[in-house]
Amino acid sequence: MNTMRVVSTNPTRPTEIVAAADALPAARVEVVVQRARVAQRSWWDAGAGPRSDAMTRFAQRLAENTERLVDLMVAEVGKPLIEARGEMARAVKIADFYAQQTLAPVGYAHPPSLGGLLWHERRPHGVAGIVTPWNFPIAIPLWKALPALAAGNAVVLKPSPDSIGSAQALADLVRDTMPADLFSVVVGGAETGRALVDAVDVVSFTGSEAVGRTVVQAAAARMCPVQTEMGGQNAALVLPDADIESTAAMIAGAGIAFAGQKCTATRRVVVVGDDARHAAFADALTAAVHSLELGDPRDASIKVGPLISARTRDAVLAVPDLVASEGGRVLTTPSPLPDEGWFAAPLVVDGVPFESSLVTEELFGPVVVVQRATDAQAGIALAEGTRFGLVTGIYGRDAGPLLDAARRVGAGMIKINAPTTGVDYYAPFGGEGASSYGAREQGLAALDFYSSTHTITFAS
Ligand code: NAD
Repeated sequence: MNTMRVVSTNPTRPTEIVAAADALPAARVEVVVQRARVAQRSWWDAGAGPRSDAMTRFAQRLAENTERLVDLMVAEVGKPLIEARGEMARAVKIADFYAQQTLAPVGYAHPPSLGGLLWHERRPHGVAGIVTPWNFPIAIPLWKALPALAAGNAVVLKPSPDSIGSAQALADLVRDTMPADLFSVVVGGAETGRALVDAVDVVSFTGSEAVGRTVVQAAAARMCPVQTEMGGQNAALVLPDADIESTAAMIAGAGIAFAGQKCTATRRVVVVGDDARHAAFADALTAAVHSLELGDPRDASIKVGPLISARTRDAVLAVPDLVASEGGRVLTTPSPLPDEGWFAAPLVVDGVPFESSLVTEELFGPVVVVQRATDAQAGIALAEGTRFGLVTGIYGRDAGPLLDAARRVGAGMIKINAPTTGVDYYAPFGGEGASSYGAREQGLAALDFYSSTHTITFAS
């Protein structure tokens, strides 16, 4: 049998190989999971103190390796330096947080009806199978793996083929600080991912909607707990009293930085008001997008780096023709692009119909669509008009209409006068509709997901 070679390249200089490894054949995944099962029993039996100590050691090693991992992320996924530093800072805080949460109560006592004792407690599921995308190659694996470990599980991670170097670097740090086989990385594509989903006791997936749906079905078919975080077509609802310049700048950053490659990126801007207001906002947004510097992500002034692949770059390059065929306009003027790398100029698009795929489907690139609404109610209907529901931004001055809109919006996360991107790491993270399935990630919500609850009655 031929073994598939997985090669991760630098999207800024595509001939440069960042990491390469053989894919683990599906038949071997079960062996890794069995080893993890053995390691999990000792991890749980060791007790909370030793688990917290090991996780604290890991958090320290992670912090010590910040610069190395930042450089690796910049090279492997083209993440602008400033954002890669932000991701690492977040990852270290997540590691500190869950090292402490290992010591948190695992349940509580209830008043018994018949004397004696009545309590419930959380216990680990066993082995957590984690399948991750490439765009947050350090933070996403960790915000899944660390609560799973804190709750007493072992972890097997299948990272995206485009970020295997970052995942292997994490595995090395775990090897230095935690028991063998407790956290393993399996390299591969869809086949390896499917085999992992079929072998573990709890599944957490982040990635595209199409793959997420198959993961939910496979896990549910054998009644395995599963959560999936998927795409979004996140809207920014700009109310009539929002300050044009500052709001446009915030939305430009949330939509276009890191070339729009975040699940929480602003994809659509719904401007509430008359034609003059719409035109003024579209102009300000276009100017704000033009001001975001595009280029080599190693440079600290760069906000927009390359796309992850030639395929995504080509999809963005095809947008202007699609817009023209749908009667819309591209408002941005392209600036010269670097000779090498998967770069595409950011696009602000106006006037496409609501049925346009640019409105309804996630492109995962630097494209923002401007839509118009005559009043707030129509604006909310537009913002809510896709099957996704990850995050919605609402912008304005007067608290009354802001709160009213916030109450009517059904997204899992609602940001008022804040970018749609970025949520505090200790708060629940997740969406509604086609954006998410199952329990929320992050914070204390994640500990519940990675645990089963047992209710114990001890009669007197
Ligand atoms: P993807 O769906 O192509 O891949 C995600 C992971 O699933 C990869 O590890 C891939 O190898 C694996 N996989 C592919 N087929 C599989 C199968 N049949 N069974 C099991 N695993 C399989 O996604 P991507 O391109 O790596 O990432 C981009 C997507 O991730 C975007 O849609 C983005 O919105 C989403 N995303 C969502 C969040 C969130 O929290 N909601 C965060 C980041 C990214």
